[in-house]
Amino acid sequence: MKKRLRYAPSPTGNLHIGGARTALFNYLFAKNVGGEFIFRTEDTDIERNVKNGEKNQIQNLKWLGITIDEDPIKGGNYGPYRQTERLEIYNKYIDKLLEKKIAYKCWCSTEELEKQKQKQIFSGVASPKYSGKCFFNQNNKDKKFFSVRIRIPIDKNFVWNDGVRGKISFPGKDIGDWVIKKTNGIPTYNFAVVIDDHLMGITDILRGEEHISNTPKQIHLFESLGWEIPNFFHLSIIIGKNKKKLSKRDEKTLQFIHIYKERGYLPEAIFNFLSLLGWSPKGEKEIFTKKELIKLFDKNRLSKAPSFFDINKLLWTNNYYIKKLSDDNLNKFLSPFVEKADLSQDQKMEIFKTFQPQLKEGIEIRELANLFIEKYTITSKSKLLVLENKEIIIEFSKKIQTLEVWDQFLIKELLMDVGTFLKLKGKELMMPIRLAITGKEYGPDITGIIKIFGKKKTISRLEEFINEN
Ligand SMILES: [Zn+2]
Repeated sequence: MKKRLRYAPSPTGNLHIGGARTALFNYLFAKNVGGEFIFRTEDTDIERNVKNGEKNQIQNLKWLGITIDEDPIKGGNYGPYRQTERLEIYNKYIDKLLEKKIAYKCWCSTEELEKQKQKQIFSGVASPKYSGKCFFNQNNKDKKFFSVRIRIPIDKNFVWNDGVRGKISFPGKDIGDWVIKKTNGIPTYNFAVVIDDHLMGITDILRGEEHISNTPKQIHLFESLGWEIPNFFHLSIIIGKNKKKLSKRDEKTLQFIHIYKERGYLPEAIFNFLSLLGWSPKGEKEIFTKKELIKLFDKNRLSKAPSFFDINKLLWTNNYYIKKLSDDNLNKFLSPFVEKADLSQDQKMEIFKTFQPQLKEGIEIRELANLFIEKYTITSKSKLLVLENKEIIIEFSKKIQTLEVWDQFLIKELLMDVGTFLKLKGKELMMPIRLAITGKEYGPDITGIIKIFGKKKTISRLEEFINEN
């Protein structure tokens, strides 16, 4: 049987890192075994749906390099792929369960349910469950509004072999008869998921560990309908710097894929980085192409332990992929960030090439390019520091005038020669030169700046200080 896996988000917003990782693992699993990857929209919580939420998620997945075989927009043989378009299908199965007396109508009002709950709490029940009142009393047939509940056998143990965590079991008495169809006629999440997963032929489900407690309910439904139960894999949580679960409210971490895109992350870098959040192949290697990851993916190597979202590792990975870009792709990648800069295409390309090795985020190029547009200014304090070290400026100027080939490596060598000659190194040597040339205390590698400024501009900046008393 062909493996079919799915990613099924609610269209309540943008693609979150956690969601992207879930999608990615399902995708890698599917492609590793020549299976299919399906996108399904779980939009039954209508008030929470966001306009374009679905489109946005699909586009971001595509940008990451995750190809979807079936989705609500392109369709497929198992559609419709939006839950709100499947209500009739759900009703059919609800009727079936009612007929088989596995499910029953519940006429209890919200107030009554609350009363039942309080009663249980009062008598010392730690986690109150629905009492089953309407299961025993079906004499309310003239009442118009009802929900549908499914009967859970109290003495049954729900057990499954989780692909990540091994054997997990839940006693039936801890679950309680839960609602499968709300009074508004809309099925609940746990119900619709099971119907869809079965009808769409889903074989394996990789999802966040917050779904563990939903699993016994879903298993019971699969069994009640006489369907095969898919394999479940509950992925570890992703934690941030504070060791807490990455939360959408945590403002210190960039949470959404489109923000990474806007800041100049390459999809290959994020794909690579996310694939190692909670999974790892054998060995120490950290850089993998999509093709390699598909080939290497092994469901038995998913980790139970929380995975740390290490932003420095992501920056390092992104830098790795930026360094590998061809001139043409580098130009395409960086040009949007300097669209408004008053520089010629040649100048831009020279800036791109010079700083390519150091870029961690594409957006950094904006500030670097500004170095070549902004008017030169220097504070009086900085100016004094340069003049106090005039011998460095004189020596550097003398040497650089003789440089015939204007090459960054040669400029670096020449700078080292000046240092050796004057017995200076590091900041002592560099700071006066940097200040004289850029007017700034900090910035990218000064040799790169000198290279782009060119000989004439560099010497003229140095000479201004040499001629000053
Ligand atoms: Zn009831």
